[in-house]
Amino acid sequence: MKTYETIIKDGKVVYPEKTIKANIGILNGKIDYIGSDEKIHADNIVDACGRYVLPGAIDPHTHPVYLDNIEGLSKTAAFGGVTTVIHYAYAKPGKSLVSTVKDYIQEGEATSYIDFALHGGLFDTKKQADEIPESVKLGVTSFKMFMAYAKLGWMTDDYALAKAMDIIGRTGGMASLHAENGLVIDYIQDKLLKEKANFKERFLETSPDTAEAEAIFRAVQIGKLMKCPVYIPHISSKAGIKTMKYLKDEGYKVYAETCPHYLSLTWDELKGKGPLGKVGPSIKTEEDLISLWDAVETGYIDTIGSDHAPKDKKVEDDFFTAPYGTPEIETMLPILWEFGINRGKITVNKLAAILSENTARIMGLFPKKGRLDTGSDADIVIIDPDEEWIVSKGNQHSNASYTLFEGKTILGRVKHVFSRGRLVVNGNSFLGESGWGEFLKTNAGQ
Ligand SMILES: [Zn+2]
Repeated sequence: MKTYETIIKDGKVVYPEKTIKANIGILNGKIDYIGSDEKIHADNIVDACGRYVLPGAIDPHTHPVYLDNIEGLSKTAAFGGVTTVIHYAYAKPGKSLVSTVKDYIQEGEATSYIDFALHGGLFDTKKQADEIPESVKLGVTSFKMFMAYAKLGWMTDDYALAKAMDIIGRTGGMASLHAENGLVIDYIQDKLLKEKANFKERFLETSPDTAEAEAIFRAVQIGKLMKCPVYIPHISSKAGIKTMKYLKDEGYKVYAETCPHYLSLTWDELKGKGPLGKVGPSIKTEEDLISLWDAVETGYIDTIGSDHAPKDKKVEDDFFTAPYGTPEIETMLPILWEFGINRGKITVNKLAAILSENTARIMGLFPKKGRLDTGSDADIVIIDPDEEWIVSKGNQHSNASYTLFEGKTILGRVKHVFSRGRLVVNGNSFLGESGWGEFLKTNAGQ
């Protein structure tokens, strides 16, 4: 008789289309058995006590270069039920894309607690686009560019965007666009600067929904011309969703992501926190939030990413010069549980789709990742739906000095997290090993 490394017994195992009561047998880091047999043997038995057993979350949107490095980010991720992270390897102007990718792979293999993949990030796109085929050979097949942030020198104009998409289209891969019209936003900011406007009060004017909708539309049209699949991260507005609905209904090859903060917070609620709530695109209104949940439910949103980018900032800092970004990864799953499942917006099955299976399929990590099937990696999270807790800086593991969700009560808590069969989180204890994480080659957009 087979002896498993670990058995997770008596779980409600969740798939996008069903939930089943089952025991899971893990062997060599993979799921080897799923079924109702009580007589299977293992060295370790973890009793799920009838709780939910989900595929570990795959976070397609992380930035390990601010207050959390790859090591620290992967730890705070694991505590949040995330078992795969896909970092943006940003090649800043003057840098080589390929050497940036190699540096991230090296740091990740040396220090990450969980498996990771990479997106390339292009800042000097006209030049760096020539390195795309070489990056694809290394296993990095999705490439982020900014249609915004012209004044920072980060913006990819339409000429360079067409060039990059042409190369991606021919090489095989996917373009990922920060979709906001950068030049229009810069003009609005300059105008407000001249007026000596209060930027905190007028933040939404500097990241308007129309600028997002326009850029989504433009990116996807250029993608069609260049035969390049397009992924739009962090969609924040009803107008953006309307555009996405049109594009998807017309059959364009485009994928949509939103983030937990757009599904749970409004700018009205956040304004008092000043720069802490400054993210790009901005967190908008209740109407936008409702529209985003609707899009999650109807499938116009494919994935959820955290956009984890913890920055050093304080409530009283100057708003205009404060950087964009907040810590998000550890609260992502709990916030979706509370604001999505507990409030009746989505089912637990939908959560398994948008946090795991859809992401794995779009990134070409499926079926190794994304679903609890035999043969897949044993990346597993057990959630107790009855434990209530309150989010606070004190129970989070990011190096950030705050969380936007301070004081929020959540019913449902991550209890166990497995990475390729290894128990890395057991309640409040961390059992991970730096360097355990493996680099995953993607095959995005296919
Ligand atoms: Zn981001």
